[in-house]
Amino acid sequence: MKVLLPTSTAGSLPKPSWLAQPETLWSPWKLQDQELIEGKQDALRLAVDDQRQAGIDIVGDGEQTRQHFVTTFIEHLSGVDFEKRETVRIRNRYDASVPTVVGAVARPKSVFVDDARYLRAQTDQPIKWTLPGPMTMIDTLYDAHYRSREKLAWEFATILNQEARELEATGVDIIQFDEPAFNVFFDEANDWGIATLEKAAEGLKCETAVHICYGYGIKANTDWKKTLGSEWRQYEETFPNLQKSRIDIISLECHHSHVPMDLIELIRGKKVMIGAIDVATDTIETPEEVAETLREALQFVDADKLYPSTNCGMAPLSRRVARGKLEALAAGAAIVRKELSA
Ligand SMILES: [Zn+2]
Repeated sequence: MKVLLPTSTAGSLPKPSWLAQPETLWSPWKLQDQELIEGKQDALRLAVDDQRQAGIDIVGDGEQTRQHFVTTFIEHLSGVDFEKRETVRIRNRYDASVPTVVGAVARPKSVFVDDARYLRAQTDQPIKWTLPGPMTMIDTLYDAHYRSREKLAWEFATILNQEARELEATGVDIIQFDEPAFNVFFDEANDWGIATLEKAAEGLKCETAVHICYGYGIKANTDWKKTLGSEWRQYEETFPNLQKSRIDIISLECHHSHVPMDLIELIRGKKVMIGAIDVATDTIETPEEVAETLREALQFVDADKLYPSTNCGMAPLSRRVARGKLEALAAGAAIVRKELSA
């Protein structure tokens, strides 16, 4: 990146109320067929414009064309039966009715490539595209076919790699895989989760990122966070292996979390997207609060490797709050940028 401290979001932004029910996850679409296709594109353009007006440097699609960051990708795969549902525990946290893997999984055609091409056409700024990571995908399914979490993760890694290579070809600058499951299943992450993530990113020439967080600001997650104690040291489990991995950027939750900032030292050498915006509150950070989080992070990340970002996606927030937070992020980064260049 040419600019110092380039800002970006973790991924999702709220959708307009004419497209989907606001402030709701898995919100159903309000349009159908061709109107839905055009509505999603219009929403994507608005998301780009919100980021442009706020002064965000690395632009995303705000995940406007997907209902959910994991489910929508899986819906496009064969081998998964969405009618056949089983109740499973997601990330050891809450029960959800999920689809069943009934046969070999495959990607009959690309999932987000047209959307990425559309995003590319909207801006000359660097763009980032998000995909779910293999381990987070398997955690959102009931597997009646492979009966092995690891085997299914490798299958998904192959499929994700096919998609990622096509996304790269549209001109995407950063491909980010979302792996909140890394903060829950440490042993599996270290045994094969990071290896499957690298497989998903294999051969890519664009930059690659992994986003590891404590989840959206929904009740199941905020309740879980209350059980984690005063110091959240989950990152400590996977950081040593992530530091050795081929992934370029690690995206983290920092602001208002109980993550000890010095854990970031464990990934020294990597670029780090520092979450300087709390997505679990409607209170909009002041630019100075954002700047303070970034200054703390600078103790453990070299300035040319620090990417100010949000703790997680902002889909469940109101558009007004999300816009305010985008502006605070850009303004906070600008304060620290000025200090660094003084
Ligand atoms: Zn997240």
